[in-house]
Amino acid sequence: MKMVFLGPPGAGKGTIAARAKEAYGIVHISTGDLFRAAIKNETELGKKVKAILAAGDLVPDSVTIEMVRQRIAQPDCEKGFILDGFPRTVAQADALTGMTGLDAVVNFVVPKEVVVRRLSGRRMCPSTGRIYHIEFGPPKVEGIDDETGEPLIQRPDDREETIVNRLEVYDRSTAPLIDYYRQKGLIVDIDGSGSPQHVFELMDAALKAL
Ligand code: AMP
Repeated sequence: MKMVFLGPPGAGKGTIAARAKEAYGIVHISTGDLFRAAIKNETELGKKVKAILAAGDLVPDSVTIEMVRQRIAQPDCEKGFILDGFPRTVAQADALTGMTGLDAVVNFVVPKEVVVRRLSGRRMCPSTGRIYHIEFGPPKVEGIDDETGEPLIQRPDDREETIVNRLEVYDRSTAPLIDYYRQKGLIVDIDGSGSPQHVFELMDAALKAL
């Protein structure tokens, strides 16, 4: 199954993708995670995009498209993949159409207040990218990753000032993709405001009914 996960930051794309990847035996490709890994490893790409991520702006299409092109050409993507956070612009969506077919575009619908609460309470394991929430999905020991024992971090772009910009960027550049994919008959709307388990079940049922 080849899928795109669409929705604003904080809609639960990464959380649901982590479950779906196990359930369906497909690859989870998060462009945000790929950029964060490049920044951590101080690669050329990382140096180029660090300030852009910190500001909550979009990395140029050419850079992002090339990174995804290389990633989905890997043999592990043949069985299927979830693209989480890509495409984010019409130009990226057009480029993706030239690279691969898609079975579904899951659109996670979540009210803005919920998104802001989720983002500001989100914490992450710096090495695995595993996601927690201080209220809704806390780790067993406060501030510590359940698996690696590392101290959890807050993503710099999850601070309140940057959240506002990221949501504006979403409305302006990415939200038009909902219509773009609806016209292609690919959109599956899912109410993303419940618990991860509930949202996953809604999506699983909707995908099975396709
Ligand atoms: P995410 O983890 O999906 O919230 O992405 C974090 C940040 O990475 C975004 O705010 C952008 O700066 C950058 N980014 C991720 N995916 C893309 C994309 N498809 N196009 C441009 N920038 C992106």
